[in-house]
Amino acid sequence: MKLILSFFMIYFLGPQYSWGHYDFEFSGKESDWIEFEVSSKEIKSLQFNFEVIGGKKTFIRDLVAPNGKVIIKSNYATPSSQRIPPWIYSTIGNKVRPTYVVDGLFSIIVNDSINGMDNKTGMWKLRLVDGNGQSNKKVFIHKNTLTREEATLQKGMKIKLHHQGLIDPLALELAIEDLEKIYRDYGLSIDIVIKDNWQDPLEETNDLEKKIQEFTKGRRNEVQIYLFSRGKVSDQKDFQGLASCLPGFISQKIDKHCALAIGFTPRVEINFNKLKKVVGHELAHYLGLFHLEDDYYPFGRRDDGLEDTHSGNESSNFMHKTSEYFEVIEFTSQQITKMLSHPELF
Ligand SMILES: [Zn+2]
Repeated sequence: MKLILSFFMIYFLGPQYSWGHYDFEFSGKESDWIEFEVSSKEIKSLQFNFEVIGGKKTFIRDLVAPNGKVIIKSNYATPSSQRIPPWIYSTIGNKVRPTYVVDGLFSIIVNDSINGMDNKTGMWKLRLVDGNGQSNKKVFIHKNTLTREEATLQKGMKIKLHHQGLIDPLALELAIEDLEKIYRDYGLSIDIVIKDNWQDPLEETNDLEKKIQEFTKGRRNEVQIYLFSRGKVSDQKDFQGLASCLPGFISQKIDKHCALAIGFTPRVEINFNKLKKVVGHELAHYLGLFHLEDDYYPFGRRDDGLEDTHSGNESSNFMHKTSEYFEVIEFTSQQITKMLSHPELF
């Protein structure tokens, strides 16, 4: 049967047009342009959450702000798309990087940390690309906003941390309490509830991507952290962390959730001080922070786009890639401001 590539349908849910739930379908490689109206003048941050059924690697081809600023531009129309898949290019080749597409879930936050984005009012435009092909894709987009007034109110985030009962529960609790205090001192109120009733076959693996796909089945209303034993396979780092569909959000349609997975290598003495730092680092990814610097072939180095993180303070920063080895770790004020503009926190 011949597929008609230009076939697509857009359904806008009438009265909610300006506030945000959009369902539509498209087949083929690219969607039509979709427009979103942001009517309030006092928006501090905007989060677009995408849930795609039928296109695991569907991604944003272009995202254009009301003032014409191109926030995301993919390589879709250029010959280099042969070499770098569009979902990777769009992720890394832009200043605003939704860092991970997992099973059709991804998200992007536009806040004041992007130059020229103080005013977000007006019509936003975006279109999607699916480099993989022609299947029919159902897309659900949910727009989450945080107003400047809301941002002045102190609210927090509930988190569940699951473990398999293979780790000293008291030491874990103390480490988590320490981490909550660190975040609280910065004005971020996080409440991590520890659950040890989770059982999982003890498959020995270093493949965090595979593990996170297993862990993130089903929808959850809270942020979930999975702390699991990697068995004996790894004799390298004590801990390894991975955060999925960043920046994180609560999915509403797809039966999956964004989560943080942290694998530990069983040892006689587990270093809970390190564990605390790894959880804090992954959580900051969930809240929208990047590493201070990443090296992505063939793009080269990408910094976090913030002005107050630099070589002078990198050796004490949570978002350094090896921060779990640092004696003292902290966030800079721009990192905190950025995390505090995550709509999920309010
Ligand atoms: Zn990291």
